[in-house]
Amino acid sequence: MRVLVVDDDEVDFLNVKRHFKLAFPGEKHSFLWISEADPELISDKLHEYDICLIDQYLGAGTGIDIILNFLKRDIPIPLILLTGRDDDTLYEKAADAGASDYLVKGDLTPSLLKRSVRYCLAHKENEQRLVKYAFSDGLTGLANRLKFDQALDLAVQTSARNNNFLALIIIDLDDFKLINDTYGHAAGDTLLKELSRRLSAQVRQSDIVARLGGDEFGVIINGYEQETDIHILTNKLMGVFDKPIDYGTESFHGKGCSGVALLGPEELPRDAAALLRAADGALYRAKHKGKNTIVYYDQRLGETLQQSASMENALNKAVENNELELYYQPKINSETLTLSGAEALLRWKWTGHEQVSPAIFIPIAERSLSIIEIGQWVLEEACKKMDYWKKKGLNLVPIAINVSPIQLQSNTFIRRVIETLDQYDIDPKLIELEITESTLMEHVEHISDRMNKLASIGCKWVIDDFGIGHSSLSRIADLPISKIKVDQSFVQMAPTSAADKKICSIIVLLAHELNLELVAEGVETLSHINALTLLPQDELQGFYFSKPLTSTDFEVWLQPEQFSQCVDKWLLALKKAESQKRGD
Ligand code: C2E
Ligand code: CA
Ligand code: CA
Repeated sequence: MRVLVVDDDEVDFLNVKRHFKLAFPGEKHSFLWISEADPELISDKLHEYDICLIDQYLGAGTGIDIILNFLKRDIPIPLILLTGRDDDTLYEKAADAGASDYLVKGDLTPSLLKRSVRYCLAHKENEQRLVKYAFSDGLTGLANRLKFDQALDLAVQTSARNNNFLALIIIDLDDFKLINDTYGHAAGDTLLKELSRRLSAQVRQSDIVARLGGDEFGVIINGYEQETDIHILTNKLMGVFDKPIDYGTESFHGKGCSGVALLGPEELPRDAAALLRAADGALYRAKHKGKNTIVYYDQRLGETLQQSASMENALNKAVENNELELYYQPKINSETLTLSGAEALLRWKWTGHEQVSPAIFIPIAERSLSIIEIGQWVLEEACKKMDYWKKKGLNLVPIAINVSPIQLQSNTFIRRVIETLDQYDIDPKLIELEITESTLMEHVEHISDRMNKLASIGCKWVIDDFGIGHSSLSRIADLPISKIKVDQSFVQMAPTSAADKKICSIIVLLAHELNLELVAEGVETLSHINALTLLPQDELQGFYFSKPLTSTDFEVWLQPEQFSQCVDKWLLALKKAESQKRGD
């Protein structure tokens, strides 16, 4: 047994040593005697020994103070407190501090020592097994969230004393769900385990790598003196995605984004929760920027996040404060060039601010769930307008409404759609529900029943921004999809390069092969239209025809006679362009 004895009196040390030899006669022992109350020295040695006996009265300090210095759960071996005199209160204090037992020097006998040591060792082993279980992630063996939170608290406290940086890096996998769906859950597990192994290999023993949730990892790094070292290390951590991961005969690449927050030596406040928020904010931004991205938290990002927090609050009241307005962008039939429908697009007039783009505020409303109420407002507003136009004797066209996946996950969504359509007596066939390709694929399992339900009453489902997500085609065929909206990036790229034109043609072809209707959005010029091979029922949407309009301006479009001139002009332009293409 390896025994560490902390005692300022050499005679007492020798006495303990003698008792040990008598207590465990057949065993080999090695002893280390430390005579000073030096917590750091003792702490360093703990890992090399099996048990430690520590005297309570050590001249400059006490045994209990030293034990208190090691946080309870971090004591790797049993500590037995030795004291010269028996004392009831001391006994309790020792237990509270984390000592495994308490022995009075005068009462020490080999058999008492033997019993105590045996019990303490068995107890510690059990305790450590439980600690390991409670603090580690079952799949990867990494620290779990609980351990991570404690370690972060401790790191923030101790980093104040050292003159260096503390870094918190959160890594979130991209498309983990897709890997699970494509290769199966066992493959997902293999990916997580392999990435965990690679991440752990990049850091030092004293750093912490934790699995914070399904596909999110947290790394706490302490002790770097230069900020640039942390940048190098973060790049190394992201390097875990470089090499493919083997799974049976397959191999695939994991990808991920990371958000990094640093706490400089003298930076205040030293607050673990704030550091975590900062890293989370940076990660959120990284995810928005795209795959495989690293974002460092800085003051500017802090301000943006601050702004998004105040936006979040304001959005909660946007409906109540009457700050929302619905615009309508016409959709045009590709053959007749007459109005075939419109897309409802939300505008937010945030009181006291400039108009905020929905591309900015919708994700914020999704995060805070206020999108559920806002989305309901959009539906109701569109239905109310359609009812109004109908009563005015105008010809209604189908209105496309953007639906967020968060809305679809709400249990009341279906009921509210049906109720709203009923309330304004709107034919469900006049409602198209647009859902983006990427979110559709992410949430498909939970929402396909709801999509079916609404499709069964006549609403049409449209896949928005098609081409930039990763739809699995078999899935699309299983879902009640009526229409595909080719993402504007493809429409706009089409005329510029042959390769892009090819991709665009394939998407158009795909929609037609699957018997789906098609909308080309983002049509800004004649050349955009000309680059597409469309069928007569396909639709065009974009600035070439019209920007999104207020409901009053859009109303004019519902009176076809007012538009015949426009249609003639477009038809003429199109014909001209076509004949130029043919070289007539
Ligand atoms: P989206 O659904 O892809 O909508 C099309 C966006 O492209 C609109 O931006 C529209 O104004 C813009 N656009 C239309 N034609 C052209 C063109 O020819 N060229 C270019 N460059 N852009 C064009 P907007 O109105 O800023 O909306 C942005 C996004 O915000 C929408 O993208 C949609 O995802 C989301 N959104 C808007 N309204 C709602 C809503 O009521 N609910 C939900 N959940 N999301 C909404
Ligand atoms: Ca849309
Ligand atoms: Ca779109």
